[in-house]
Amino acid sequence: AATTTGFTRIMLKISGEALMGDQGFGLNPPTVERIAKQVKTIHDLGVEVCMVIGGGNIFRGLQGSAQGMERTTADYMGMLATVMNALAMQSALEALKINTRVISAIPMDQVCEPYIRRRAVRHLEKKRVCIFAAGTGNPFFTTDTAATLRASEMKCQAIFKGTQVDGIYDSDPKTNPDAKRYDRVTYDEVLAKNLKVMDASAIALARDNALPIIVFSLSAPGGLAGIVQGEGKYTMVT
Ligand code: UDP
Repeated sequence: AATTTGFTRIMLKISGEALMGDQGFGLNPPTVERIAKQVKTIHDLGVEVCMVIGGGNIFRGLQGSAQGMERTTADYMGMLATVMNALAMQSALEALKINTRVISAIPMDQVCEPYIRRRAVRHLEKKRVCIFAAGTGNPFFTTDTAATLRASEMKCQAIFKGTQVDGIYDSDPKTNPDAKRYDRVTYDEVLAKNLKVMDASAIALARDNALPIIVFSLSAPGGLAGIVQGEGKYTMVT
C-alpha cells in the first residue's frame, strides 16, 4: 500500500529529548507510548518504517567532554544511551502489536541484533519496524548522521525529522514572533545560512544521496500520518 504522496519506506528521526516529556531528563513512558502510537498510524498505512532515536535525554558526548571526560569515551556513552531509548521504543511498539527490531551499530548480541544491511532490509519487507541504535558506531558523529546513513542504506524515500516546531524558520520562532517558516529550502541554503536542522555532515550526506528531509512537529494536528501524506505544515529540504 502506498500513501497519497507515495512514500513506502521512510526514516523517522527523533531526538532523545522527545522521549523525556516535561521531566527534563531520561525516559517518560507515557511520552514514549504517545510517539509509538504515531508510528503505528503510518505502519497501519503500509509504510515501512525505519527509526533512529537520539540519546540527548540521557547523555551527550559533548557534555561529557566539556566536563573533562575523554571525548571518544563520552561519545560511546552517548551511543549506549541511544540503545536504551531504542529498547524503550521497541517495548512501546510491541505493546501495540507491531513487530520491531532493535539493530545496533555496536554488536551487543544479548540485547539486540547487530547491523547487517541485508537482514535489516528483509525485516522492513516483512513490515517490522527497524530501530537503528548506537548511532553510526563511531565517535564524533551524531544520530542525525546515523539517520541519514541508514536511510541511504535502506533506500528510504525521505527522512522525517520530528521536532518541537513545525519546520525550519529563518530565526527562532520561540523568541522571534516574526520568524518566517520555510516551506521548502535547499541543502545548500541550510548549510550557507547555518539553519538549525541537522549538523552539517548529515545535511551534506543527505544532499549527496538526494534524500529529502522533512522537518515537522511531533504534535502536528494531523499527526505523523498526516505529514507522511503531505498534509499540514512542515519544511522540506531538497
Ligand atoms: N554519538 C556518537 N556517534 C554517533 C551517534 C551518536 O558518538 O554516530 C553520541 C554523541 O556523543 C551524541 C550522543 O551519542 O552526543 C547522543 O546522540 P545525539 O546527540 O545525536 O542525540 P539527540 O540530540 O538526537 O538526542
